[in-house]
Amino acid sequence: MDQNQLELNPLKTVEMTVDFRENPPTLPHVTILNSTVSSVDSFKFLGTRKWTSHMAQQWLCWLCQLRKFSLPQELLVIFYTAIIQSVLCTSITVWFGSAIKQNRNSLKRTIRSAEKIVGADLLPIQDLYSSRVRNQAGLITADPSHPRHKLFRLLPSVSMFGAVVVGIGTAGWVRIRDMLAPLPGSPAEKLGIKGFISRRNLDPQQGVSPISVEEAVSREDIQVAFICTENASHEDSVRTFLQAGKHVCVEYPMTTTYNAAVELWDLAQEKGVVLHEEHIELLTEDYKWLKKEVEGKTLQEGTLHFTGGTLKPGFGFPSFSGIARLTWLVELFGELSVTTATLEEGSGNCSKMTAQLLTSNNRPLTWIEERGPGLPRAKNINFQFDSCTLNQIPPAPRGATGLFMQDSIHFAAKLVGQISTVELQREKVRILHCLELAEKIQKLCQS
Ligand code: NAD
Repeated sequence: MDQNQLELNPLKTVEMTVDFRENPPTLPHVTILNSTVSSVDSFKFLGTRKWTSHMAQQWLCWLCQLRKFSLPQELLVIFYTAIIQSVLCTSITVWFGSAIKQNRNSLKRTIRSAEKIVGADLLPIQDLYSSRVRNQAGLITADPSHPRHKLFRLLPSVSMFGAVVVGIGTAGWVRIRDMLAPLPGSPAEKLGIKGFISRRNLDPQQGVSPISVEEAVSREDIQVAFICTENASHEDSVRTFLQAGKHVCVEYPMTTTYNAAVELWDLAQEKGVVLHEEHIELLTEDYKWLKKEVEGKTLQEGTLHFTGGTLKPGFGFPSFSGIARLTWLVELFGELSVTTATLEEGSGNCSKMTAQLLTSNNRPLTWIEERGPGLPRAKNINFQFDSCTLNQIPPAPRGATGLFMQDSIHFAAKLVGQISTVELQREKVRILHCLELAEKIQKLCQS
């Protein structure tokens, strides 16, 4: 006991022996501090899980009351997180791992009821458990005096992630460059380029050699794949690497259908790996400026009209190839729905997609994606608020760190567990929402 820094009260301790031998010998009783510990034939854990489930249900009634008093959603979420979530998580690291499916489902139901009351997605119980286990493991590994410290050993893969880049176009070339010269002191230093995959017969690029898909999925020193091909082949490539248990960073859009993205996300969860979709448009100075301007204002109506040159084949329907603009609108104005959408196709590869969207409080937003040979790349905005109108984004100087580098830092931070479960969940919800909208827009255009 001294060795483990534990003190047991012999009066509150019992002993149970499990021995499968035919003729078990009589064993001497355990003695603690000169007291003999009594023997028992059975034991049970105290009902922590039942208690948490019961208490959480009781607090749900209070959450309902608060909603009746028309408390804003943010405050309802704060109440949920501070009270109900902390009740659900009481000693969760001890009991959740061995909870049976029926118990897990009852906890999921409690969270689903809370989601309905609050009107927002809340963290699943499995994610809460995983993040608390990780935190606890982190605390134990950081404390050499902890009795369980010696049970943990950092795997070599945590200190460095070997990576392969698939598709050597504009994005793929920059990914290799950034891995060869990562931002000093950033998590991106954890990524090391091991090779690239190209469908063309290429010589080494920037000193990095080509390898085959088969080699990349089977090599143990490759734990990460960057998928930088045209949009149409993202899904297959992402699936191949996830199935091989590799972490994946895929350039946007992750897929060109919503269902495929859901399936890939489930696969990543099943394999216990990170699936990251790059969104550099949210890292631009333009976007940061706009986000700051929009904050605190109430939108009346708005338009985002994008123009650009024609795309090569393989980039998918405009609502998918233009997902960056849709992501802007969702990040600026929250969850959206689509009412109508049309696609006009002219001669000489000209196309114009117009989608009519609605914010959650029924404010109309128009999103136009227009492409044609030689059309200048531009984002024209007209956002009318209760207090003012925004109709242009002023030119902003580029940030000191490149956009793909910023994205690699964010991805690497996910790999080393530096991004909170709340943020990961928020990102996933936003990405799937945008892909679902893109698919609805495509269906409306084609109907
Ligand atoms: P690109 O056309 O320049 O490059 C695509 C490359 O992928 C080509 O070299 C092609 O030969 C290769 N490729 C295609 N299928 C392949 C396969 N199965 N195996 C190996 N290689 C394959 O395109 P890009 O501009 O680099 O864009 C790539 C992805 O990055 C797209 O999904 C795009 O949406 C995204 N993206 C690009 C930018 C950018 O600034 N270029 C910005 C954000 C996101």
